[in-house]
Amino acid sequence: MALVTGATSGIGTDIARRLAADGLHVVASGRDPVRGRALAAELGDAATFVRADLTEDRGPEGLVDAAVRLRGRLDVLVNNAAVDHTGALLDTPASEVRATFETNVFAAIACLQAAARVMRDSGRGGAIINITSRLAHIGVPTMSVYSASKGALLALTTAAAVELAPWNIRVNAVAPGMTRTPLFSAWLAEQRDPVAVEHEVASEIPLGRIALPDDVAAVVAFLARTEAAYLTGASIPVDGGYLAK
Ligand code: NAP
Repeated sequence: MALVTGATSGIGTDIARRLAADGLHVVASGRDPVRGRALAAELGDAATFVRADLTEDRGPEGLVDAAVRLRGRLDVLVNNAAVDHTGALLDTPASEVRATFETNVFAAIACLQAAARVMRDSGRGGAIINITSRLAHIGVPTMSVYSASKGALLALTTAAAVELAPWNIRVNAVAPGMTRTPLFSAWLAEQRDPVAVEHEVASEIPLGRIALPDDVAAVVAFLARTEAAYLTGASIPVDGGYLAK
């Protein structure tokens, strides 16, 4: 069974679709019950929607418990849920920093802890995939707080990969570049000239286009498979070559 957080939108929805196509039962989670139920209906027997707000007290632990109760096991966790943050670093209040870290870091750590305990106790191990960002690696003005949250998730990935290896729990990161999702559309809408910014963004990507959610989902699905059994502690950029420049 695979638990995907943030499966009610964008990249997470396509990750759920890919993992279901690979034969895993997917527990698809998010806050929006309308989109969550629609995804579960689309995937039929291959998926169950479990509503959870990961910033609520014991939200992550409750979600992992609910998923394990449903299927009796947990083989894959995809830590995908996140919020965006844009704002001049020097004008960002601590409350916004905390809110960003609450979802992007604290909830992701709590999900990883709860899931890894189940994987350890099962004796089977498992795969944990953290969705970071190219912004964990590079600086872009006004994105510092978001970058810091994704950098923390990247550091968690390498540290947890080493600490959890004795139980055959693999921990990897996938670092998307700009990807066409509601998060991207919202960011674009905030720009002074969205059409010009979109053109500029695409022209700076060596492969010449903005990623589709399924470009990211395909790599996540590979990391979840047994073919990736010897891969842990890695961060795979899915950014059309942007970080390679
Ligand atoms: P998105 O469309 O905005 O979706 C975000 C998902 O996270 C939604 O399903 C949302 O649930 C869920 N979520 C947010 N806060 C939550 C909370 N407190 N509790 C539970 N679920 C919560 O984002 P996306 O663009 O697909 O991004 C997916 C991942 O890729 C994120 O980690 C993002 O940082 C990363 N990423 C995206 C891009 C990009 O260009 N799109 C680039 C680099 C990295 P509801 O909608 O149900 O509230």
